[in-house]
This record gives sequence, structure tokens and C-alpha cells, in this order.
Amino acid sequence: MHELSVAYDIYATAKRAAQEHHARQVSKVFVDIGEMAMINPEQVEFLFHTIIEEDEVFAGVELVCNVVSVLTRCSCGYEGDERFVCPRCGSLPEMIRGREVMVSNIEIEVDD
Ligand SMILES: [Zn+2]
Repeated sequence: MHELSVAYDIYATAKRAAQEHHARQVSKVFVDIGEMAMINPEQVEFLFHTIIEEDEVFAGVELVCNVVSVLTRCSCGYEGDERFVCPRCGSLPEMIRGREVMVSNIEIEVDD
């Protein structure tokens, strides 16, 4: 299941960042999900919460998903949100944003 590996990647990334910053608690994890990432954010959220269940550093964490719209670019210079046909020259534009899933930020609490 694609969503499970995505959820695990989010956890692993957040965990690494938390360790690097000596976090006592992770309170929020912000994730950018591309419109064309072909995953269901609610399912990712559900699975994420299943994965972190045993990890006290993540107790009470909130996963904040931000859907990122598609951006394409064509060799003719077109840049916009047309995914399949360039409105200027008719060729297939390259998708430069909208397929990714990535942790953009985390909110942590540290010991004084
Ligand atoms: Zn074009």
C-alpha cells in the first residue's frame, strides 16, 4: 500500500529532525502533498497515527497536510497548471511540482 510507505517516510523524516533538535515532544508535522501524488491524505494521516502510537515523542502529534497544486513547464517557455497538453505549442509539459510528498516543517518542544 502506497499510503503506508508514505506515512512511514513522514514518520522517519520527522523522527530524524526531532532527534537532531533534541525534541522532548513533537507537536505538529507539516506535510506538503502534491495534487498528483495519487495518495489519500486522510489515509496517510490515519496510518501515521497508527505508526506513532508506540512512540512517546509523538504523543498527541497533529499531522497538518497541505495540498500543493500542480505546476508544469514546457520547453516553449509555458509555465502553468496544464498537465497534459501545453496550451501554447501542444506538446507534453514537464511536471515540476505536484507529485511530491514531503515534510515541510515540524513543531517541537525542547527541554529548557
Ligand atoms: Zn509548449
